[in-house]
Amino acid sequence: MNIQNNISLKPYNTFGIDVKAKSFYNITSLDDLKKIIQKEKTFFLLGGGSNMLLTKDIKKPVLHLNLKGINIIKENEYSVYIEANAGENWHDFTQWTLKENFGGLENLSLIPGNVGTCPIQNIGAYGVEVKDTIYKVNALEIETGKTITFKNSECEFDYRNSIFKNKAKGKYIITSVVFKLTKTKHKLHYNYGAIKEELAKNNVTKPSIQDISKAIIFIRNTKLPNPKELGNSGSFFKNPIVSKNLFSKVQKENPKMPFYLVGEQYKIPAGWLIEQSGFKGKRFGDAGVHKNQALVLVNYGDATGEDILNLAKKIQLKVKELFFIDLEMEVNVF
Ligand SMILES: Cc1cc2nc3c(=O)[nH]c(=O)nc-3n(C[C@H](O)[C@H](O)[C@H](O)COP(=O)(O)OP(=O)(O)OC[C@H]3O[C@@H](n4cnc5c(N)ncnc54)[C@H](O)[C@@H]3O)c2cc1C
Repeated sequence: MNIQNNISLKPYNTFGIDVKAKSFYNITSLDDLKKIIQKEKTFFLLGGGSNMLLTKDIKKPVLHLNLKGINIIKENEYSVYIEANAGENWHDFTQWTLKENFGGLENLSLIPGNVGTCPIQNIGAYGVEVKDTIYKVNALEIETGKTITFKNSECEFDYRNSIFKNKAKGKYIITSVVFKLTKTKHKLHYNYGAIKEELAKNNVTKPSIQDISKAIIFIRNTKLPNPKELGNSGSFFKNPIVSKNLFSKVQKENPKMPFYLVGEQYKIPAGWLIEQSGFKGKRFGDAGVHKNQALVLVNYGDATGEDILNLAKKIQLKVKELFFIDLEMEVNVF
């Protein structure tokens, strides 16, 4: 097993924040992982580092989960069950499924990060959430070292949320995820955002799952800053979901406010609230708000985690002052 001491985590987090890890384990086997959790009682788990803001050096051992492997476990005429290990890169995995003509993950193409983290915040994009394709999640229970399986219904999936962000937080290490994907009669979702326009531009009238993935990759590449060029962690805040009372109060003052109905509640685009609060494109030293995507906070080069966090707090205060709405951070702050 490869162990390094006192290394910079800058290449391991998409915000590009330069903090140090006292010790860093590159974990490539389940056996090594089991040995380490017996030896070290507390640690810091690192996947692709695309959903974290590091504000200080990490004193706990950092476990970089690099467990690889993709296996078809069973299949029938209509469905296939695939187990992917936690350290597989998410986008590469989606592209593998599409090459095999398995449907379900096409709308989630180009989301950064690893397979093992996809259930934690129930990643979602372009009208699809990963919960609709997850069959089960395999994890190591940290206290006992036992393998525990969570069926989909036990994961308590919700909007950017799951049991792994709540009562199971800090208790398990996800080691693999089993997906149930379609082999025929794929369910296509292309009425969301700019997908339809992009398909029309390419003269695609009857899209395949591969066409949808291609369109989404193109849209994401044009809309979102590439973390390799400009440090960021995607959407920094969740879109707030508010009560009818609060919604009516805010809408009275802001009749043009966009919203989506979610059951009896109202989801408001956080990016709109941030833009209306005057932060879009603003830069404070090396920390800033992206010029096209107000929901994305960026590191222009040498921002510290504290710089980004201070900006996030400033935004939260202003949005609360103007709209009475609490913005919750989607990114994990350490
Ligand atoms: C440019 C950009 C665009 C993005 N777009 C989207 C989007 O469209 N939709 C979306 O939902 N998200 C999006 N994200 C967020 C991010 O891609 C997802 O949250 C992703 O699932 C994070 O995976 P990761 O492996 O990088 O997690 P990490 O950042 O490495 O870890 C996230 C958290 O999980 C813990 N963790 C890591 N591995 C494990 C494990 N195996 N078991 C238990 N805990 C673990 C970590 O300690 C940390 O708390 C975007 C991010 C970026 C940078």
